[in-house]
Amino acid sequence: MMDNGYDYDVVVVGGGPCGSTISTLVAMQGHRVLLLEKERFPRYQIGESLLPSTVHGICRILGVEEDLRQANFMPKRGGTFRWGANPEPWTFSFGLSSKFAGDAATAYQVERMRFDQILLDNARRKGVEVREETSVVDVLVDADTDRVDGVLLSGPDGVRREVRSRFVVDASGNKSRIHTRVGGQRRYSEFFRNLALFGYFEGGKRLPAPNRGNILAVAFDAGWFWYIPLTDELTSVGAVLMPEALDRAQGDREKALLDLIQQCPMIADYLSDARRVTEGPYGEIRVRKDYSYIQEKFWRPGLVLAGDAACFIDPVFSSGVHLATYSALLAARSINTVLRGGVDETTCFEEFEVRYRREYARFHDFLVAFYDMHQDENSYFWKAKKVTNNVASEVESFVELVGGGSSNEAALVSPANSGRRGAAYQELAEMVAQPVQEAGEDRDLLRSTLARSVSKEGTRIQIQAELGESTDENIPVRDGGLVPSTDGLHWSTPSQPAG
Ligand SMILES: Cc1cc2nc3c(=O)[nH]c(=O)nc-3n(C[C@H](O)[C@H](O)[C@H](O)COP(=O)(O)OP(=O)(O)OC[C@H]3O[C@@H](n4cnc5c(N)ncnc54)[C@H](O)[C@@H]3O)c2cc1C
Repeated sequence: MMDNGYDYDVVVVGGGPCGSTISTLVAMQGHRVLLLEKERFPRYQIGESLLPSTVHGICRILGVEEDLRQANFMPKRGGTFRWGANPEPWTFSFGLSSKFAGDAATAYQVERMRFDQILLDNARRKGVEVREETSVVDVLVDADTDRVDGVLLSGPDGVRREVRSRFVVDASGNKSRIHTRVGGQRRYSEFFRNLALFGYFEGGKRLPAPNRGNILAVAFDAGWFWYIPLTDELTSVGAVLMPEALDRAQGDREKALLDLIQQCPMIADYLSDARRVTEGPYGEIRVRKDYSYIQEKFWRPGLVLAGDAACFIDPVFSSGVHLATYSALLAARSINTVLRGGVDETTCFEEFEVRYRREYARFHDFLVAFYDMHQDENSYFWKAKKVTNNVASEVESFVELVGGGSSNEAALVSPANSGRRGAAYQELAEMVAQPVQEAGEDRDLLRSTLARSVSKEGTRIQIQAELGESTDENIPVRDGGLVPSTDGLHWSTPSQPAG
């Protein structure tokens, strides 16, 4: 037992990407962290398409970049969409943004059983005490101060025990009820009230190189399909149905999914020689009501919600793991700063909440416009620039947003790209001039929207590069707000860089 009757500094509930990330980033500061996960890993989870901000930002800080390389996950260069008014598929690459150019231009498609295991093993290596098959039943509240100060858990033996801690983090995803203890309601979106029906196939077709690892999203009259190549053989396939088409998922799940595939010609063609996996963790056809929601409150004294426990947005741009790991970083900064002393809990957690809500709102507001099927991609790019208030070109604003880099945080991009925008931009300009075979299908996008602004934007970015500007993360996002410390793992007041 520690001072003041606490067993740990922090108890983290849930060992998904959010829980593993926050516990590692707090333990790396020497604090005592206990992570409780109700399942035994590896366990199945949906959410397989990752963004560069997770792979080259958060995973770099966690120290798992090499583990990811060795896992041989499918490299994901961007997305290919049959979506909106354009009857032809269009492709974007992360490399279209100077934030993700060069080595950071690819993310991964991952089998979550393996990805989540890598993050959890890393947490253990970094000093987190991890207990699997241990559920948190409730949080404990100090009757005098009304502060959350621990959890009631149930271990593999079924015996309930109390554990006391200075902070409890709820990273238990969308299903648990712990979030109710923060106070306030979970508000469900009126707009995104979809349902997903999904399974796995072997032997599906691949997009032509260099885009074979891209996520493919195809709209059809009932909603849209995702088609995610997880390995050369295995593909994750899911239909996201609009509220007015929910009856098409009724009855036998296999029949419903196969019928829906036949209603979407491009997906039917890609799966024409494929067979559905019927055994093991990929053998089940699953349903998820992926209704989007956001909590009215993200924290109360002693308790913070992060990842899906706090909010969830429609998966069309694969933002879930990005939001989970980014919110983990924001919450870890708050906890690390309070534990170090000097800034109070309210100021630190308000900073976490404002920034997490801001990132969520960007995806939400952009996605509302993206679901208007009467627009073409140029209109979507314009909307991305508007919701992110970005000075970059429209297509670059779009790629920054959907790559998870629009918050201008150095922590979310590779260091090479936060300090060398000029060089990265030069690389882009050269790509525009390359032959189609080398540059890939998306060169047309570059030519039509980016190339128009190359000389104007290029000049601006070259000047910024020469002046040494990297990101504007040193500007607070609200009056009296905090900024990331130089180590990226605490908050500082803007006038007092520390860390
Ligand atoms: C249809 C669909 C498609 C999606 N596609 C994508 C995608 O392509 N890319 C993407 O990035 N995201 C995607 N997502 C979102 C993604 O699944 C989630 O955002 C992400 O998994 C959230 O991570 P997390 O760590 O917050 O929660 P989780 O991954 O859910 O982890 C929570 C953990 O907490 C544990 N737990 C729960 N209750 C307790 C308890 N009481 N005690 C102890 N442990 C507990 C659970 O067992 C689990 O391991 C998709 C979501 C849906 C619904």
